[in-house]
Amino acid sequence: MLNLTRQMIEIRNILLNINGATDLRLPSIVVIGSQSSGKSSVLESIVGQEFLPKGSNMVTRRPIELTLVNDPSSASEIAEFPALKMFNMTDFQQVQKVLVDLNLAVPQSEAVSADPIQLTIKSPRVPDLSLVDLPGYIQVEAADQPLTLKNKIREVCDKYLDQPNIILAISAADVDMANSSALRAARRADPRGERTIGIITKLDLVEPEVARSILTNKKYPLKMGYVGVITKIPKSTSLFHKKTGLQAFIAQQNAERAYFKENKEVFVGTNVGTKLLKRKLIRVLERSMSEALKPMHQLVMNELEETSYKFKVEFNDRDLTCEKYMAQTIDNLKMEIKEFGERFGRPELRSLLRSELDQKVLDLLALRYWNKSEPYLSKNPGSADYEFEEPPIANLSSSKNDDVFWHRKLDLATANLTKIGVGRLSTTLITDAILTEIEVLIDSTNLRNNTMIKKAIKDAAISVLNQRYNSTADQVENCIKPFKYEIEVEDREWNVSRTHSVQLLTEEVKEAQEAYDFIKKTIGGNKLKQLMTYIENENNPVGQNIERENMGFSPGMLLRAREALFLRDRVSVLNMRLKGLKSSSCKHKENKFKCPEIFLDVVAEKLTQTAILFLNVELLSDFYYSFPRELEKRLSSNLTTEEIENYAKQDPKVKRHIELQQRKELLELALSKIDDVVAIQKRM
Ligand code: GDP
Repeated sequence: MLNLTRQMIEIRNILLNINGATDLRLPSIVVIGSQSSGKSSVLESIVGQEFLPKGSNMVTRRPIELTLVNDPSSASEIAEFPALKMFNMTDFQQVQKVLVDLNLAVPQSEAVSADPIQLTIKSPRVPDLSLVDLPGYIQVEAADQPLTLKNKIREVCDKYLDQPNIILAISAADVDMANSSALRAARRADPRGERTIGIITKLDLVEPEVARSILTNKKYPLKMGYVGVITKIPKSTSLFHKKTGLQAFIAQQNAERAYFKENKEVFVGTNVGTKLLKRKLIRVLERSMSEALKPMHQLVMNELEETSYKFKVEFNDRDLTCEKYMAQTIDNLKMEIKEFGERFGRPELRSLLRSELDQKVLDLLALRYWNKSEPYLSKNPGSADYEFEEPPIANLSSSKNDDVFWHRKLDLATANLTKIGVGRLSTTLITDAILTEIEVLIDSTNLRNNTMIKKAIKDAAISVLNQRYNSTADQVENCIKPFKYEIEVEDREWNVSRTHSVQLLTEEVKEAQEAYDFIKKTIGGNKLKQLMTYIENENNPVGQNIERENMGFSPGMLLRAREALFLRDRVSVLNMRLKGLKSSSCKHKENKFKCPEIFLDVVAEKLTQTAILFLNVELLSDFYYSFPRELEKRLSSNLTTEEIENYAKQDPKVKRHIELQQRKELLELALSKIDDVVAIQKRM
């Protein structure tokens, strides 16, 4: 029998989770009582735990939907707040604290919230029951509240006092029944007294005869009658006041029993005691649920038909859950990664690294070969950029001493290049490029606005790349090691690099020329000429100050003109070098000292080729293998169901789809459970 009630409570809770289906409600027991009527004590004596918020200023602001589950297998009372994902709570002080917090979260100005707190308590000692502790209905309403708030409170409460719920109206024996606001409220909702059980608390505070007359109330007759209880003996008179928790409740029940036993004759023919109350509640709830079940079957079926139809029309019966949606997202991402893998492979790595090394080569050449006395450039003493180098490169001489000088110079430049830390440089370059590409990839999908998913994808990429970073950098560095000692050049390599160097320098000339032209355009040709002449004569200060003032040169203009001078000289040096590279002496690798551009280009190419070999295998291939797996881990197993749900429901269409499907599933589940219970009832 008990199991049947539990199944019906389960059905009730399933139906409660179906949004907006207000007519799909199986009855519950709603508890009302004015402050200090003993409402909390009654509820707690049913549960056998103290868990409700106390204190004179503690007004309940949200309904508490309490589901009691008789669970013989559990060792003690366990509380759960399913909506908060708080399970297996055994500390009832903690439960009390959560309830206080949840109540206080409703601002005083709003008085109450219609949003119920769902609390489940499982215990071998509780009956299967479903109870609702209503917000400080009566006391708040009676207080000095503005009318709008009173209406709001009434609205929230009336919803619960309506059919088919059973009303548990609590009044204290020491207060005149005519003044019982609980009974008054119950009569408003249930004028014929068909769904109300009257609970009279604190029977110990009145003479047994008075108590009896209240319990046999003729003035306010209730079909389900009255039950008298003593749920708290004042501590000062109790022998058991030192007991706490369950022990205190057992002691309490014993005291209650002793009291009624003592006054047996007086209470004969009345309903008294917490134990009897529990039994009555179980019976009443089970009966009213059973009665409601058949009409409910029809209602659920109608609702299911309606929902199934919508699901078919709108979504063609296509199955979609939050998890499935996430799986689709992951699959799409995997596809994108695969396509990205086809776009970003060895050739792309190569060109990235090569252009980085080209830049390093150009910097080195500028540092070691192409600089010349630049008296007109504002000198930065710490910078090597404007160092003097003798003799000027344009006049490469072939005298013996000079040969040694140029040999050493090339050796130094080569060492500079091979020892820049190609391992780390290239690995960082590629990992950065991959991360940038991944970001671009995400931004091209509809995930771009989802910070959580975006972060998960980025973190997955970083974690995969990090795992490989050090070993890749070391491998690359090891493999280019031989180039730090010796570099052999073949004719073919020399020719390729010669062409490449010419291209590179031609581009450099073009860029420098464009930059120069731009300055010329902004300052004006004549003005620039004057400025440049002025700077070139800077070392000859006679009359300079006067001229400077006369001509109105601003510091900003002078700076731009210095830049222009630098660019002009750069263009002339580069043109000179281009001539050299194209000349017959740079045709042969034996003349490498006279053609450092070509030789360094050969070195850069060798470094690139070797590095790419390892970067491709160690880093890139591994990334394409591990990244989708890591992504899957982070986007499915590592996220909570709630996070996945939040993600899926961000898309309004998906939200509607999933919610409609969930509704359909809940209705199907409820229907099948109703069928089961009805079948059992038929057999009984
Ligand atoms: P609530 O405000 O309606 O929730 O009432 P409480 O359950 O907090 O009880 C109010 C006061 O009445 C508390 O001081 C309880 O100890 C006391 N009380 C509750 N039930 C009984 C009872 O059966 N007998 C006696 N003597 N006191 C009770």
